[in-house]
Order: sequence, then C-alpha cells, then structure tokens
Amino acid sequence: MSAEISGFRRFLHWGPITALSIIKCITLTTLYMNSMWWPPNESFAAFAHQALFLLLSTLATFNYVMATLTGPGLLPKHWRPKDPRDTQFLQYCKKCEGYKAPRSHHCRKCDRCVKKMDHHCPWINHCVGWANHAYFTYFLLFSILGSMQGTVVLCCSFWRGVYRYYYLTHGLTHLASVQFTLASIIMCILGMGLAIGVVIGLSMLLFIQMKTIVTNQTGIEIWIVEKAIYRRYRNADSDDEFLYPYDLKWRQNLRLVFNDECQKWGDGIEWPVVEGCDQYTLTREQLAQKEEKRARTRTYRCISPVTGRWLPLFSQGWRVCLAAPCSDEPRIRLRPDDVIKVTRFRNHWLFGERVLSEQELGDKKRQRKGQLRGWFPRRSAVELIEVPEDGVGDGGDASSEVPTTQNGNAHIHLKQQQKNGHAKKYM
Ligand SMILES: [Zn+2]
Ligand SMILES: [Zn+2]
Repeated sequence: MSAEISGFRRFLHWGPITALSIIKCITLTTLYMNSMWWPPNESFAAFAHQALFLLLSTLATFNYVMATLTGPGLLPKHWRPKDPRDTQFLQYCKKCEGYKAPRSHHCRKCDRCVKKMDHHCPWINHCVGWANHAYFTYFLLFSILGSMQGTVVLCCSFWRGVYRYYYLTHGLTHLASVQFTLASIIMCILGMGLAIGVVIGLSMLLFIQMKTIVTNQTGIEIWIVEKAIYRRYRNADSDDEFLYPYDLKWRQNLRLVFNDECQKWGDGIEWPVVEGCDQYTLTREQLAQKEEKRARTRTYRCISPVTGRWLPLFSQGWRVCLAAPCSDEPRIRLRPDDVIKVTRFRNHWLFGERVLSEQELGDKKRQRKGQLRGWFPRRSAVELIEVPEDGVGDGGDASSEVPTTQNGNAHIHLKQQQKNGHAKKYM
C-alpha cells in the first residue's frame, strides 16, 4: 500500500498536486500583479519587498517538500522493545506484526505504525509525526506569511486596476500602472480568494499545531488523556492520579521539535518523561483503556449482506443514510453469518471488527479484501448473547430457536435488535 510509496511518488496524489498548485498559483499571480503595482526595479524598497515574497514562497515550498519526503518516521516492522519483559506494557500491532513503541500509532492510510503520530495529512499525502513535525509547522508558518503579503499585493493591485480609468481621467497617471486583461483579472480574483483562504485555513492549523508542540501532546494523545481523566472520574473510588508523562514545560517541549536544522530529536522511540513517570506510563494507560473497551465489546452476527457503501440508500433506506456517522472511518462490507466484535453503538450504525473465519485464518490468500474494522448498519446484524444453561430469556419463547450451542455451558441466542434499535426480542 502507500507505505511502499517512496520519494517523489508521494506527490502523485490529489493532495500534494492540489497544495502545490495553490502555492504556485498564489506565487505567480502575486509576482505578475506586483510587477505592475510596485515593480522591483523602481527602488530598493520595491526590490526588497519582492525578494521577501520570493523568499517566503521558496521557504514554504521547501518545507512542504521536505515534510512529504522526510515523512513522520515509520516504526520498523516487527519492532520489539530491547527488554522482552517490557512487551507486557505495549500494544501489539497485528498489521505490522510488531509492538507499538510508546507514542507510536498505526496509520490506516500509510498502513504502518508511525512514530509520535499526530495525524495523517492528505495534503502532504503522509503522516505528520516525529521526523517531520518541524518541517510541517514551518511550512504552515511560511505559507501564512507569504499568503498575507500576497493578499496585500493582490488587493492593492486589484483596486488600482479597477480605478485605472478614474486615475487617467483625473490626471493621476502615476497611479494608473495596473492594467487588466480578462485573463489577468480572473487570475487576480482567484489568487485573492486562494490567498485569503490559505491565511484563514492554515492559521487555524498552525494554532492547533503550536498547541500540540508547546504541550508536547499530539492530537491522538489529547484523546488518550481525555479518556484517562474520564475513566478516573467514572471510577470515583480509584485514587491514582493520571500524570501525563511528556509535558516538560513549554521551553523544553519546543526544543524537542525545533532546533537548528529541523533535526529530529532522539530516535522517536524513547522520550524524556517528567518525574514520577516512566517510558510506559502512557502505554499502560492505553492498555487499561483497551481492557475497558474489551469489556464493553459485544458480538454480532450479520443477517443480511452489507455493501460497505457510505450511503447505502437502496439496500438500507433513507433512515440509515440520514443517521450515517460523521467520521471518515471506513465502512465494512459483510456477508450473512459474518461475526463482528462491536465496540461503538449508534441508533442505526455499529462500529466493530469482523472476526476472520477459520478458512481465512488458515490461508492468508483466502482473506477477503477490504477493511476489517469499520461502521456498518445496525439492522443488518443481530446481537449474539450468552445465556447460562438454565437461564430463560425475558420472553416466553426463549427456547424456541437456539441457533448454535457451544460446549454445552452456554447457549448463544440471537437477540434481534428491532428497527427502533432499543426493543429486544429473542428469536
Ligand atoms: Zn502498525
Ligand atoms: Zn499516515
């Protein structure tokens, strides 16, 4: 998959093509309009003004290309900690067939575990993480500054161009330097729109990035910490305080990302931690959260085919489409009798992981294509619940149909989730 993509092939994707086109469009339009509005050969100030713009544009492009080429730093496949005893504190990544180092996460799009993963950015067609955090942040900064200057140049020259006739008829010929053609007025308006869009959009991104750098807490870690606090709030009796291990005060945090030459800090696996924490403080918390999630997991069986479409209007109806989850997480394709371990629940949708059949487990080539984890419509599946041998369901017809029996200890009953998603009925 995309993990195998290296070097300049990373740019052959709609994200980098669009981003580079926008950068070039703003740059060329600004240079063209500036040559009429404030020609660089007019004075030293005009020359310095244009040189500054070219510098900002070049720095933005350079950092952009470096962020993409450097990548976030991928954790080697089959990675294990030096001390085998430490594996008990780490999560295992089935896809990479190795342990996840502290702060590493598996990226679905890159199909690899990424060191200090922040997020996957479609614009650079790569993740933002340990190795390219500085390049990515500098790219945002220089793009914003360059686009601000571009916005000023384009707005001023647009004004001059529109009032050219007025200046000429009022004897202000020195102000009538900007002359529009149909093509150049369209380019000028387009350039203004793009430049203003870049300033607004990237400023918000830069703000978020600076927050994660100053607190040394990535977007994913913010989530983990939130869950950690909530977990302790819910289990009020537990008195262990959660201390986030990587926040070393802002000055030190900044130094971990920014230094002389955008050099990445350390190896991306071992991180300095605050007193009272160790290398595995956060991973132990992640394991505990996973354990709680496992306890919430329920098993479902598919009863009608699921297409895996985002809006399955024809197969599921408008009610299911209207309630589609707002997330870019995958949708899974299912066949009747597939078993799914569900961890999240919505009225019309469920999120879970399909359990591989014995055939698929035995022979990797027979494994069905497509995602294993994702959303699917609730009405296409029924919950399997375990009822003790002598247990009787809440309906009189509990024993009327028992689909499968396991080991004689517990029957698995199919629990029909009726259309409203709440009523339960035993089949
Ligand atoms: Zn992985
Ligand atoms: Zn990624």
